[in-house]
Amino acid sequence: MPLEKLTHCPLCKSGLFLNHSEIKDHSISKENFYTCKCSKCDLVFTNPRPDADSIGRYYESPEYVSHQNKSNSLINIAYKLIRMYTIRKKVNQINAYFPGKGSILDYGCGTGHFLKAAKADGWKVTGIEPNPTANTISNSHGVKTYLAYDELKKSKTFDIISLFHVLEHIHALRSTLKNLLKHLKTDGKLLIAVPNRESFDAQHYKEYWAAWDVPRHLYHFNQSSIQKLAEEFELQIESTLPMPFDAYYVSILSEKYQNPSRSGLLNIFRALQIGSKSNESASKKDNQYSSLLFILKKK
Ligand SMILES: [Zn+2]
Repeated sequence: MPLEKLTHCPLCKSGLFLNHSEIKDHSISKENFYTCKCSKCDLVFTNPRPDADSIGRYYESPEYVSHQNKSNSLINIAYKLIRMYTIRKKVNQINAYFPGKGSILDYGCGTGHFLKAAKADGWKVTGIEPNPTANTISNSHGVKTYLAYDELKKSKTFDIISLFHVLEHIHALRSTLKNLLKHLKTDGKLLIAVPNRESFDAQHYKEYWAAWDVPRHLYHFNQSSIQKLAEEFELQIESTLPMPFDAYYVSILSEKYQNPSRSGLLNIFRALQIGSKSNESASKKDNQYSSLLFILKKK
């Protein structure tokens, strides 16, 4: 299996980094991976990592493509209700920045549900989704979806470019960001949502924390590494917003990884407790939510 070993930090290019942790891929391959932590920008990154051509098999699970499944189990109904709610919330968030509506490029748009809702709300929407199956579904929702950013017209610019839980999956981190920013208007906003390795649930579950999700997650951000990312690309963080549902979702998976033989119901009960503790401590204390949405703008 071709693993690529990084000799420089994928965010700031520093050669100074230390071993950080060993984490198991609990969901698909059951293989162990290592992470390193950059001494300069504080980014934790999976290293070595499967290269872009060989990572596909780590996504090959019926569950990973799950969210298109049509079963009517209680979990699936709950999932769909939460998805409807979170999509609505995302549309409200972009409306808050551009009340007169505008254009949005969603990078890694998946099956396009968010863009479909944004379009219905009056936005001009474009998606990029490299997975051919998801891409086809997104297009079938009437959302113009490309497979890669180089298919976009060079002169095309957007008011908003969003990456919801996508940045941590991108091998070519720097060049992708650099190229995407060419498509962002001068007064546009870049929205980046990523898991937060300093959240309460991350500290609680340690190596079982589901949002490590190695090797699919190549980067493990915290607030200071996003701050460094902003500086690298001449951006500034305008605000840092909570994504409170992620604490529950991540905790349910983490309980399952930590206690595989315990009853599912008990795991869900424990997960709801930890998820709400995580949100409570973030809201009262330090804004260290399970996942954070960063709103960035050009300097
Ligand atoms: Zn670095």
